[in-house]
Amino acid sequence: MAELSPMMKQYFEIKEQYKDAILFFRLGDFYEMFFDDAILASKELELTLTGRDCGQEERAPMCGVPFHSSEGYIARLIAKGYKVAICEQMEDPSLAKGLVKRDIIRVITPGTVIESSMLDDAKNNYIGSVCLMGKEAGVVFADISTGVCHATHLSGEKLDEQLLGELCRFCPSELLFNAEILAHKRVTGYIKDHLACLVELLDETDYRPAACQEKLEHQFGTDYEKTTGLAAGSALALSVAALIAYLERTQKKGIERLKVVDLYSGSEYMRLSPVTRANLELTETMRGREKRGTLLWVLDKTETAMGKRLIRAWVEQPLLNVAQINARLDGTEELYRDNVLRSDLMEELGRVFDLERLMTRVIYGSASPKEVYALSATCGVLPGIRTLISGCKTAEIRDLLSRIDPLQDVKDRIEAAIDENAPSTLKEGGVIRTGYNSEVDELRDIVHGGKGFLTGLETKLREETGISKLKIGYNRVFGYYIEVSRAVTAEIPANFVRKQTLANAERYITDELKQLESRILGASERLVLLERQLFDDLLGDIAKELLRVQATAAAIAELDVLCSFAETARKNNYVRPIVNNGDELKIVEGRHPVVEKMTGKSIFVPNDTELDCRDNRMLIITGPNMAGKSTYMRQTALISLMAQIGSFVPAKEVVAGVVDSIFTRVGAADDLSAGKSTFMVEMTEVAEILEKATRKSLVVLDEIGRGTSTFDGMSIARAVVEHMADDGGHLACKTLFATHYHELTELESEIEGVKNYNIAVKKRGDDITFLRRIVRGPADDSYGIEVSKLAGLPDAVIVRAKEVLKELESGSAVNAVTQMDFGNFERYEKLSAPPKLVEQLRALDVETLTPLEALNALYRLKQEFAEEEK
Ligand code: ADP
Ligand code: MG
Repeated sequence: MAELSPMMKQYFEIKEQYKDAILFFRLGDFYEMFFDDAILASKELELTLTGRDCGQEERAPMCGVPFHSSEGYIARLIAKGYKVAICEQMEDPSLAKGLVKRDIIRVITPGTVIESSMLDDAKNNYIGSVCLMGKEAGVVFADISTGVCHATHLSGEKLDEQLLGELCRFCPSELLFNAEILAHKRVTGYIKDHLACLVELLDETDYRPAACQEKLEHQFGTDYEKTTGLAAGSALALSVAALIAYLERTQKKGIERLKVVDLYSGSEYMRLSPVTRANLELTETMRGREKRGTLLWVLDKTETAMGKRLIRAWVEQPLLNVAQINARLDGTEELYRDNVLRSDLMEELGRVFDLERLMTRVIYGSASPKEVYALSATCGVLPGIRTLISGCKTAEIRDLLSRIDPLQDVKDRIEAAIDENAPSTLKEGGVIRTGYNSEVDELRDIVHGGKGFLTGLETKLREETGISKLKIGYNRVFGYYIEVSRAVTAEIPANFVRKQTLANAERYITDELKQLESRILGASERLVLLERQLFDDLLGDIAKELLRVQATAAAIAELDVLCSFAETARKNNYVRPIVNNGDELKIVEGRHPVVEKMTGKSIFVPNDTELDCRDNRMLIITGPNMAGKSTYMRQTALISLMAQIGSFVPAKEVVAGVVDSIFTRVGAADDLSAGKSTFMVEMTEVAEILEKATRKSLVVLDEIGRGTSTFDGMSIARAVVEHMADDGGHLACKTLFATHYHELTELESEIEGVKNYNIAVKKRGDDITFLRRIVRGPADDSYGIEVSKLAGLPDAVIVRAKEVLKELESGSAVNAVTQMDFGNFERYEKLSAPPKLVEQLRALDVETLTPLEALNALYRLKQEFAEEEK
């Protein structure tokens, strides 16, 4: 076999170390990919696949992207869940002896991107690291692009569930695990099915206590246990250390961005299962998975990217602590009351750039001059914001004031160094402000003045030689030259040295020109280098202020969110809820924040709610389809949740006792695609609620029991109500229960704390009008036929349906029907007799059959049945 070419050898040596990434191999102005990487990337990026000589008989498959437009291509690969390893030329190819040195400078992965083009402003991009040790788990989520790092320690019985809860809350785009995760099938299955994230199993060596200790000391100092609260050797410490090790391997620099670890405990926040988050449509809709139509969409009036990320986080994690909630509400209220202050603040906030992500690029050294200037512009806004809130009285906002650093020194430092019209790259220079550095000024004089010398020299030579068309030009190969037309070459002085002959011109150089040239070229080269160096120094100096900038960014984000809450409250006519530790949830004229926004305020009908753990534990809500049962129950849950994030609420008056979790079981979420039947999903969810809800929870059950036969369904629904509502040692938590089983309304007289409600409709002749008003007592009718009429079922069908209904309702007809039913029933008994058929039926997976396959299966079954009956 022929030898590989030297460059290909180099390629393979590097590729060997980064097998799991697509290798972008820098060759001049391109990043090239080879072999399998090339085949994969050409497909994913729709690039032309070519070949390159590699010393072997067959050419190596190759494709490439231009260096200057590579970011977009990398972004697309990252979005598809790949990792991209960037291999750069480590020396100037024109100066290199032999093969150019190359090395990996960074591996870009979904969880480690910092480029703004690859990030969503309004969302944190988390990389998670989980270290499992028996019944314990250390869990950390870091956003490299903003420097935030949340860590928590999980332990106890339901470790998998706790872990899933955290994963759903943070939705990481990349997850690191130790090998123990392989035993947790439920978690891995969930990640595969529901979280679009890249999963990495790290090597055991990343979790060795000694190595971890060293990493943590290096990152956070030798007293890290004290400063971060991470106990040496604990699962949590190991998960953080493994994350750092991974970042070192992939990022090579910028890891110092992670300075502060925020240790939290799951018990600080309301527990919300993944299903409930989805059902309540907190941050994305169930259907389109979009923001429009969600609670976040209604609440978010933030002005900054940092605020956008924080409000999302707050919506995802409502608080439990009454004092904390009220502090936020105080802040919201103060801004709500002062319209002038709020609108001034929002205007100023609108001029604040994304400090968190700017700082990351400063630390990575990849910030552009323009971005650094934006940083100083943002610093310029801070004093104004401080002045605006300096008159505020609430502890919440006074605290924010104390945390916003005006960063005057950072601003001064940047403005002294950077030209206000600085370009977005360093390539052409012009970054450093005149007067900042005397050498820069001198070099600029030479470069610019040098051009003046050239025109001077040109005029002088024209006069000396008498050649009026003599000119001085420049090209990359020969540098500066004197050009004259061939017709006049006889008049050239002796000190002109011929350099190049063209079709009708000759080019010369002289000593004088050479000297001038080296001065000019030397100066502009030196200038570019010097500007780069001064710029890097500046970045280094700003990086030192990381903690101050970070703290300011966090305070600005909070202020932005409180402003947003206040603005939404004003615009949508919300009130401040009274939040306490009682068990009561009392809502006067509550509205659904999203539906009200969709339908228009004038159309939405407000409703009251009265729930507690005593006389009003369980509200059984009946009423025809489309009456508004689901809307009413969700509105109650959302109001309770909004109160606990510190927002005002859509109602006239609300008293909200803090709830520890909200559970929902809402009909529509069919999980057919995951291969489970609706009924199975429903029952799993109900089981989970019964198991996990506490007396302090709020439970919403929307038409459970629908997925099975009427009697089964009703029995289950009834048993669930009894179990939940009965105070005899059971739950007795606040529950809303919508049902189409009328029979359940009897429970009001049987179980204490059960109250019947229905959503009123008005019937006139055949037509019904939805009043949307909740009233005490059971619904008197299901109005199924009337609703069908509203829905546009043909008149003939409606008429026939009414006949059938009448027959059913009149005694004799009912008998006839019942008898007929029995007749059928016997026949079913007989039908079910051949066990072989039953078995075959059971084996059929109807959900995956195509219509044609189904037809064939039916045909086959029928034939076999005919056989058996013989
Ligand atoms: P149900 O669960 O009883 O079948 P829904 O809660 O789904 O009914 O409500 C059906 C529709 O009625 C909703 O899409 C909404 O547009 C409208 N609706 C519900 N409640 C109200 C209300 N209080 N005011 C105005 N419109 C409402
Ligand atoms: Mg409904």
